[in-house]
Formats: sequence, structure tokens, C-alpha cells
Amino acid sequence: MLKSKILIIEDDAIEAMDIRINLENMGYDISAVTSSGEEAFQKISQSKPDLVLIDIIIKGKMNGVQVAQKIKEEYDLPFIYLTSNSEEKTLEKAKLTEPFGYVIKPFDVIELRYTIEIGLYKHKMEKKLESRLQYFQNVFDNAPVGIFHSTIEGKFIRVNKALSYMLGYSNQKELITEVNKSTVADKIYYRPDKRPDFVSNALKDDKWHSYKNEYVRKDGNMMIGELRFRSIKNTDGTVKYLEGFITDVTEQKELEEAQMKTEMIAWDRLAEIDGIYDSSPIGLCTLDKDLRYIRINENLAKINGFPAIKHIGKTPREIIPTISEKIESMAKKTLKTGKSIMGVEMEGITPSKPGVLRTWIVQSVPFKDIDGNIIGISFSVLEITEMKKAQKELFETVKKLKLSNEELQRFAYVVSHDFKEPLRMVLSFTQLLETRYKGQFDNEADEFIGFIIEGSKRMERLLDDLLTYSRITSAEDKYSEIDLNTIIGESIFPLKLLIDENNVEITCDQMPTVLINRTQMIHVFQNLITNAIKFRNNETPRIHISAKIEENTWIFGVSDNGIGIDPHYHKRIFEVFQRLHRRDEYDGTGMGLFLTKQIIERHNGHIWVESEEGKGSKFYFTLPIENKLI
Ligand code: ADP
Repeated sequence: MLKSKILIIEDDAIEAMDIRINLENMGYDISAVTSSGEEAFQKISQSKPDLVLIDIIIKGKMNGVQVAQKIKEEYDLPFIYLTSNSEEKTLEKAKLTEPFGYVIKPFDVIELRYTIEIGLYKHKMEKKLESRLQYFQNVFDNAPVGIFHSTIEGKFIRVNKALSYMLGYSNQKELITEVNKSTVADKIYYRPDKRPDFVSNALKDDKWHSYKNEYVRKDGNMMIGELRFRSIKNTDGTVKYLEGFITDVTEQKELEEAQMKTEMIAWDRLAEIDGIYDSSPIGLCTLDKDLRYIRINENLAKINGFPAIKHIGKTPREIIPTISEKIESMAKKTLKTGKSIMGVEMEGITPSKPGVLRTWIVQSVPFKDIDGNIIGISFSVLEITEMKKAQKELFETVKKLKLSNEELQRFAYVVSHDFKEPLRMVLSFTQLLETRYKGQFDNEADEFIGFIIEGSKRMERLLDDLLTYSRITSAEDKYSEIDLNTIIGESIFPLKLLIDENNVEITCDQMPTVLINRTQMIHVFQNLITNAIKFRNNETPRIHISAKIEENTWIFGVSDNGIGIDPHYHKRIFEVFQRLHRRDEYDGTGMGLFLTKQIIERHNGHIWVESEEGKGSKFYFTLPIENKLI
């Protein structure tokens, strides 16, 4: 063990020597023996002793008490006074310096040793206690929680650093001063009315009581704290003070609030989706892996004929036994392959409409969790029973219409074809009557014969047009890629006589090859060219046939320099039997443009005229470049 070092301050050399010898005999080291304070301080600085023995009465500028004071304050060393009973006054002063002991001269060796040992021990203990206190002070100050002791009335007794920082004060002193100008409740409670309850609860027992409490910081902001509060009592049961721990949970609270807000939004969205799900015109449901309903919307529940809630936990087999087999097979397939099955048409009878065969379009989609694992199947069901019925009716109607149309066409054909023969007979015999007996009856009879011949001829032309119409509409449309130059050639050929007689000038652009029906298209050009010649004026008829492309469409034109057409009638002329002139002015049946329009429309085109009275006419019709024909 290390020997304790002792410094002796004694101006009496003999006494000093005596003490030294005794102490050395006791086993102490003597660090120095000095006769004055000044000298002692020098020695202490060189080698720090463990204890100082000071004679109260010494020479020099400072007396023993003053030296002791300095040793205590500056060097923090324990010291023992060497004194004699006669120095009572000085002793009073010496007491104030809180020495570690007194040794009365002439000293007893045992007493000296005892006092020194006690002094050394006391000092050691004090040091230990001090560091302990320091430790607790540190804990108290630097704890992450705010700690306080307060009176029942609400005055702070002590607070730690953490609490002052938490509440926005720069140190404990400031917090205590500010709070104690009024009370804890008034100064730092957001709701001062809460404190009486906290206090009365704390006073009831010695236990901790926890609260969420809002505090007002120095800057006026709110701090949400978790307060743990209790009373500390004296042994006699009276209250010593109230102790509290405060943890700042503002951020946590904000986080909780944000989380709650997000959750609320999520719930709102969910409710919204629920609403959409339930009001969907499509039946929707989800089955789990055991094919039990985990969700179903109102629409599908209605189709099935049971309230939605009754489905949950049940299988389709239990709810809709007649069609469950198909549903189950779809579900199993989707579960196995993980793939959706789209647009399966399903027929069946449901309990909601017994005896009614219903049709649905059903679709199954795998139902996955967040990680993408299949946890069930979602079905969407679209009822198409009515649609199917309507479709069937439409189909029947179209079929009937087609039949009656065919009948009509047959009728038109029969009428035009079969009527022609007796008409021919009427015409032939009337003409024979005219040839043989003209002038043998009176004038009126000759005129009547003339009317019969004219009427019959007109009827013949009408029947011809009707026959053409029935041929066009009943004949199967055969389309092929044909060079329109040849079609125009073929159209003009039979009109050669008419063209020559009228000195008609016909010019034509280079024509393309298009997908058309040959006979029908010849009819179109023939009709347009004939009209262009027929409705001529006094000028030499000039006809131009043009072709151009506009927006992926061929536009063909047949223009003339004839009498023109009042724009008022531009639509009417394409209707059946519509003519703008008397027969004695311009001959015709009023079927030509009607037929032409029918043909163009069968080629997916359309026809129109641009004209004004007296300024010639331009008939245009279109044909799609890529003619996907009916
Ligand atoms: P039709 O030639 O037998 O009278 P269309 O259906 O071919 O019957 O023509 C209907 C009417 O349109 C004609 O009566 C005539 O008034 C008018 N029209 C047709 N083409 C021309 C034309 N190029 N110029 C003037 N008018 C025309």
C-alpha cells in the first residue's frame, strides 16, 4: 500500500521535528515541513500531499486559518489543525474552514494518528460522495426525459436541463424563475384545469400516474408530453414534493396523426371503391382458394337471388347449384394457371328467376396479395339475357326482312319480266292496227291508237328499268379489280349513235384500276353520259370524265355543259321516279339516277351533283381506294 504523504506547517522547529519523527514512525511519508503558508503552497505545487497538518498560529503574512482556507479552496486538500487549548478565539474562526480534525498540543501520538486517519478517510469518502453526486447530477441533467420536483401548489423546486430545453428555455434557472412567477399550470400547461386532477391522483398513493399532457413552450408552440407523476412523502406521511418525468412525444403524436390521416384517407377511398363495387352494373365477386365467397357486390347477389351477406363463406355450389360446375371449373383453371379467362358465355337458371334461362358473359381473374401470391379468384359477370333476346329478335327480323326483300325482288323481276310479254303483244298488235287501218277510222281513232302505242312504249321502258333494278339488287355482287378505262369504253360503245347524232365531244382522264362490279359500273357511266347528252342545250355537248384522289378516296366526275340543275333539286333527282321535266321536253323514267345511287352505295361510295341552272352539271361519285366491299 502506498504511504500517505503529509505536509507539516509548523514554525516551531522543535515541534515540527517531533511531529515529523512521530509520523515517520507511524509509517507516513513527510512530503515537506514548512514554517509559513507561502512556503507550503510552493511545496504543495511541487508534490501534492494527501493531508496537511497546520499549526493555527504561524509566522508569515498568513495565519494558519488563512492558509487552511486557501489549501481547501485552491488545492482541495484535507487539513488538520494543530492547536493548543489557549487559542479558543482563533479556534472559532478555524471551525468555519471546516477542517478534518484538530490535534491539541501537546499531542498524544495515538490521537494524532487517529485524527490523521479519520481525516484521510473522511476526505476519501467526501471525494467518493462528491463524484456520486456529480454522477446523479449528470443523470438528472442529461436525462432524455424532463425531470422536475414541484410543490403541491405548482412551484418548481428543481428541474433538469432536459426539461428546460424541452420547454424552450436556455437553462434550468430561467425555467424555474419564469414558472415560479406564477405556477406550473398557469405558465406551462396548455390546459391548466387538468393539474388539480393530476395532483389529487398523485396524493392518493405513492404510485406513478401517467397522462398525455400538452405543454406550452417558451416560443408559444405546443409540446405534447407524456407525464409520469407521483408524490414523494416523508416518513410521517406528509408530502415532501411532487416528482414528475416528462417525455416529449410531439413528433410521435404528429406521426400518429399523420398515420391516422393516411388511414382515414385509405378508409375513405375504400368506402368509395366499395360504393363503386356495389353500384357496378356488372356483377362482381371474389372467391378464396377453397372457392368460398369472400366478397360479392349487390348486382351479382341480386342475380344469384340471395343477399350479399348470405354468400360469404359459402361456395357457388351452395348458392347457384345449376351453374356452379362451370364457375368452379373456370375458378380452378384460373387458380392453376394464374391466368385470366375472358368472355366466357354462360347459360343457366338461377334461384332468383326460376324457369328463366339466362345468359351471362363471365370473366375470371386471379386475385393476388401484395406479394403477388394468388389467394383467390375474382369474377365479373355481365348479364346479357335481354341483349341476347334482342339480338335474336333482330336476327329474326333481318331474316324476315331478307326474305320479304327477296320476295319483292322476285316480284319486281316477275312483274318486269312477265309483264313485258303481254305488253309487247299489246304494242305489236296496236302497231299492226296502225299500219293496216290508219286513216280508215276517224281522226280521233288514229289519235287513240297513237296514245296506246306511246303509253305501251313508256311502260316497256319502265319495265326495263325495273328489271335492271331487280337485277342489280338481287344479283350476287361480284367484284374484281378492273381498269375503269375499259369500263368507260364499254359504256360508250352502245351510245355511239347518240353521240354521233349530237356531235358530242367526250374527253376522259387516265382512269385507275379499281375493285368494282363490271355490269353495275357500266350502268353508272352509261346513265351519267346519257343524261349529259339528253339534258343538253343548244351548244355542242361537251362531256369530261375525271378521276382524282382525295383523302384516300377516288373521286370520279362526269361533267357536261348542258341545261344544269337548280340547287333546290340536287337531292330530289336521286330519288326513284323523280324528274324535273315533262316527258315531251325530255324523255325518261326517273329511275336512272336512283339506280346509279344504289350501285355507288353498294360500292361503299356516295354520289352528288354540283350544278346551277343553265351552267352545266358535274356529277361526282366516290369509291374507296381500298374497297372492302360488302
Ligand atoms: P331520267 O333521266 O329518266 O329523267 P334520271 O334519274 O336519270 O331520270 O334523272 C332524274 C332527273 O335529273 C332528270 O329528269 C333531270 O331532270 C335531272 N338530270 C339528270 N342528269 C342531268 C344532267 N346531266 N343535266 C341536267 N339535268 C339532269
